[in-house]
Amino acid sequence: MYPNGSMLIDTHAHIFLEQFETDFDQVLERANGAGISHILMPAIDVTSIQFCVDLADKHGDPHNGPVLKAMAGIHPSSVQAATDEDMQAVREWATDPRIIAIGETGLDYYWDRSFDDKQHAFLREHIRLAAEVDKPLVFHDREASDDLVRIVAEEKERSPHPERIRGVFHCFGGPADHTSRVKQLGFHMGIGGTYTFKNGGVPDATATVPLDRIILETDSPYLTPAPHRGKRNEPSYVRLVAEKLAEVRGLSVDEVTRITTNNAKQLFGLAD
Ligand SMILES: [Zn+2]
Repeated sequence: MYPNGSMLIDTHAHIFLEQFETDFDQVLERANGAGISHILMPAIDVTSIQFCVDLADKHGDPHNGPVLKAMAGIHPSSVQAATDEDMQAVREWATDPRIIAIGETGLDYYWDRSFDDKQHAFLREHIRLAAEVDKPLVFHDREASDDLVRIVAEEKERSPHPERIRGVFHCFGGPADHTSRVKQLGFHMGIGGTYTFKNGGVPDATATVPLDRIILETDSPYLTPAPHRGKRNEPSYVRLVAEKLAEVRGLSVDEVTRITTNNAKQLFGLAD
């Protein structure tokens, strides 16, 4: 148990990527020292699902540092190269009890607008799959909020199990009207490094999000929180996000930690 309070959960970290190859054990040790109990790993393509599952198999004992958990999904930026066979592989992984969520999926309009239709089709497949296997979704959204919210709402409308369509909009940054739509859909919002950026505007854009809808994340190795901006991100830094959130909301770090950890445990079905 962390000596200074409750344990934190990094709900979004790509620590299976090559950026962590040389010092993986030290990264986990630092996470342990920072009081991180779980690190959740969203897959980005079919190959990475296997990486995530292998790591989760190796790091499942809470007495040996953070517990790692795997997800299955195809990142919107990987969709261009993805095939129906890839989606079929995600489908097969989805029923594996070691897979705690479907992700990451979503929409990314920033890099390339030439395969929007394919992104929409894969997104819908992921949502239907999540409802089928009753597991939460992890959404990536880059400059695509309107379409993402519309598609999620449409899928909820037509689903035989709308209540099962739940999850998180990861790396959430508003704006305020988007916040209310995501709240309405019943989804959580993942707060990460961008929340700590000076002039980033995220604390203002998320000011109306109740604490019971917030979970914490790093998105390692990307979007490193202040004061380490520009360097590689890692799960131990999720504590910096918790501290900033506590400061902005006028709460104790322990209170923020307790509530967001509890939210993440409930959403992802994690044991204490
Ligand atoms: Zn991600």
